[in-house]
Amino acid sequence: MMLKEKINSTKRPFVVAGPCSAESELQVLSICKEVAKNPYVKLLRAGIWKPRTRPNSFEGLGKIALPWLVSAGKATNLPTATEVANKKHVEEALKAGIDVLWIGARTTVNPFAVQEIADALYGVDIPVMIKNPVNPDLQLWLGAFERLEQAGINDLTAIHRGFSVYKHAKYRNVPNWQIPIALKEERPDLPIICDPSHITGNRNLLLEVSQKAMDLNFDGLMIETHLNPDEAWSDSAQQVIAEEFNDILSKLVLRSVEISEDIQGEIEGIRAKISILDDLIFEVLGARMGLSEKVGKLKRENSITILQQEHCKEVIASRIGSRNDYHLTKQFVRQFMDAVHQESIRHQTKIMNKSK
Ligand code: PEP
Ligand code: MN
Repeated sequence: MMLKEKINSTKRPFVVAGPCSAESELQVLSICKEVAKNPYVKLLRAGIWKPRTRPNSFEGLGKIALPWLVSAGKATNLPTATEVANKKHVEEALKAGIDVLWIGARTTVNPFAVQEIADALYGVDIPVMIKNPVNPDLQLWLGAFERLEQAGINDLTAIHRGFSVYKHAKYRNVPNWQIPIALKEERPDLPIICDPSHITGNRNLLLEVSQKAMDLNFDGLMIETHLNPDEAWSDSAQQVIAEEFNDILSKLVLRSVEISEDIQGEIEGIRAKISILDDLIFEVLGARMGLSEKVGKLKRENSITILQQEHCKEVIASRIGSRNDYHLTKQFVRQFMDAVHQESIRHQTKIMNKSK
């Protein structure tokens, strides 16, 4: 059975677990045996080649560690997965008998590297999971799937691991949930797994992000686990021992996608009301833009610039000031007002450029 079919047919979440990096034969075997006891675990992971942002940090033990992961798979009767970033990794992983390959975020970002992997896999029958690129570019992510498909690899799964930003207060990689949601819209055929370990970079936030992924109907989770996380050779702050891992999985609330018949009517009633309010929002926005055009006409007749920076700043600040009355976040009010303002400028520009 193809991996993507297995993910779709097993009870959610389909869980991938194991250490960030393979450090020793005993480490790989012991942590894999521990996590394999959890029935949600369907695939084992371990990094053999580690793409590190800065040199001189641990870059993985390389191919000597491949048989350790393979024997952990045999001991637990579970398939195994590792990250590949070039042709040599692909050849060595295939030779060792790894069952599933994944392309990491720092590789998905580079079409040359993805193409090299696709070419190395030409004619090979193996499932591949593709992590989102480090930058929030849906096209690059889609392109990576297409490159693999053109090489005949059709058993593909997406992994959402967040996007890098400069110094974020909470996350190592911000989730930008709208991007995996957009991927689901474009490619509903691809299962999607969330990697809360690399999103959070912090073991205390794993449950929160895993729950969010479940509420957004993700198919599975990839969680890094370690016998002694504080001593891990890579990603130490985000790895968890098996006990914590089990605890996270047991605390997840799995809500159903199907709406049961008894609440169907009530939900539909509320949705109808929402739709009426949405109509009103658009009606009001249309009327508002009509007024913007009137202002535009006056500006044209009196030769005044469209952009009145100070006025615009005041308008947005006053809306942000009153946001609490409406229970709206500052970020939403800012984005909304910016969008309204841009649309208003578009209307005024149209008036401005109209020949008299
Ligand atoms: C990993 O899974 O260990 C890894 C390096 O992930 P990412 O490509 O998401 O950084
Ligand atoms: Mn890691």
